[in-house]
Amino acid sequence: MNIAILGAGISGLSAAYRLVQLAPKATIRIFDRLNRYGGVLETLNRDGFQIEQSADNFITTIPCGVQLCKELGLGEQLVQTNPLVRRTYVVRRGRLYLLPDGFLMMAPTKLLPMAVTPILSPFGKLRAGLELFIPARKDDHDESMAHFVRRRLGREVFERLVEPLVSGVYAADMEKLSILATLPRFREMERNYGSLIWAMQKQLAANRAAHLAEQSGARYSMFVTLRNGLSSLCDALAAKLQPHTLQTGREVTKIWKTTEQQWALETKSSASQTTSATSHVKPEFFDAIILAVPIHESSRLLKDSAPELAEKLAKIKYEGTAIATFAFDSDQIKQPFHGMGFVVPKTEQSPILAGSFSSLKYEHRAPKGKFLIRIFAGGNRTPELAELPENLLIPLLLTEMRKILKITGEPLFTVTSHWSQTMPQYHVGHCELVQEIESLTNSEPTLALAGNAFHGVGIPNCIQSGFQAAEKLVSSLVEH
Ligand SMILES: Cc1cc2nc3c(=O)[nH]c(=O)nc-3n(C[C@H](O)[C@H](O)[C@H](O)COP(=O)(O)OP(=O)(O)OC[C@H]3O[C@@H](n4cnc5c(N)ncnc54)[C@H](O)[C@@H]3O)c2cc1C
Repeated sequence: MNIAILGAGISGLSAAYRLVQLAPKATIRIFDRLNRYGGVLETLNRDGFQIEQSADNFITTIPCGVQLCKELGLGEQLVQTNPLVRRTYVVRRGRLYLLPDGFLMMAPTKLLPMAVTPILSPFGKLRAGLELFIPARKDDHDESMAHFVRRRLGREVFERLVEPLVSGVYAADMEKLSILATLPRFREMERNYGSLIWAMQKQLAANRAAHLAEQSGARYSMFVTLRNGLSSLCDALAAKLQPHTLQTGREVTKIWKTTEQQWALETKSSASQTTSATSHVKPEFFDAIILAVPIHESSRLLKDSAPELAEKLAKIKYEGTAIATFAFDSDQIKQPFHGMGFVVPKTEQSPILAGSFSSLKYEHRAPKGKFLIRIFAGGNRTPELAELPENLLIPLLLTEMRKILKITGEPLFTVTSHWSQTMPQYHVGHCELVQEIESLTNSEPTLALAGNAFHGVGIPNCIQSGFQAAEKLVSSLVEH
């Protein structure tokens, strides 16, 4: 078997790793236009600080992330979030307030903190409480996150709590984001229990009972990271591959199917700035391919060989974000923080989407006496900021941070990363679109798609998608 993988991000690397396990004799080539592997995942070490340029941790409730780390011998490297600060702030009228204790993404698990929070008005609290009596929606139709939350918990809970929390993660427009594709368990709660508040109470009780019954085994916090940074996960995956598998610095410019039902790829050396014929390498042929590049790129590449599929893929839109990381001396921070970070509602009209107190969340990320903060900007709310050059972005964010976080003086240094068109947007109807894409892909036994555009944007989702792509190809190649 001779298999090509396009894209050496976590999805492509996971696909390659699984292929090595399932078909050790297969020849695998992973092409990436960058001169490195890892895709958006990149850890930078500077002056004793550890800076994650994009993702900085991953969820443990989808087990394959933790499982893969353990399989690769990185189990001892897994670090949990600092238990003393497992809360989040939300900004209201320019000031930080802790989210009501027990408020999980969309609904409260505890009622008293909701009743006393200064974030909501008495009317907003009353409206949220009425959720217990609002009849459940009976049909299975999709709806936007904004519509769902306003319908169940009211406008204030949406604008002041849920919108900032969710848009911080998905960089999305809540009026378009699909509830069924992003947080379907909340619709299930509505259907099964009639109320989110009631369902959260029931689930909390069930979780407590399950934890009490659990006798052994390590339990992780909801998020974990790796002590040597998330690049170390990519390094460990790359170390499992044969020499020459990774073909970095090679952009795939064209793919097509030959008459022998093989896939042909044409690549271009990324080092070359010209598009002259000499920079193109002659076509290479493969029995099967995995596309683990962003979907707009897969769509472009498949335009001639699978036009219907390419058209469907093009319907999935992306947004970009910029992340600015600031290093400070701890005494420049003039207030104690009791949370891991903060989110900013759209109504605040701030250039900041969210911020993370990186070295408080994971203490190994800064030397003693220093403090590291990551600020997110852009997304659907302010797409122009995702592209704003560093010399304009940093002063804008710093001015805003000084107001919200009471920080004095200049940062020791800053690092900016722009992630243009990297965050897929799961709009209303996404689940049906993905079903159509999957049925078209299934009719191509030697083609598989992986990545964050279909069943979740998080790292464990991407790992899973890579594994599934590898499994599909091996089973269809064995069958044929
Ligand atoms: C700013 C940011 C913060 C995030 N935070 C978190 C977080 O905290 N936790 C979490 O779980 N997830 C987070 N995510 C999501 C998660 O990191 C990504 O979904 C995941 O890493 C995507 O991996 P991928 O391999 O699918 O794609 P990518 O990492 O985008 O890799 C795709 C690769 O394809 C290559 N490529 C593109 N076109 C071509 C071509 N024509 N030829 C060859 N190569 C090509 C690119 O160079 C790239 O290396 C975050 C994402 C971003 C952008």
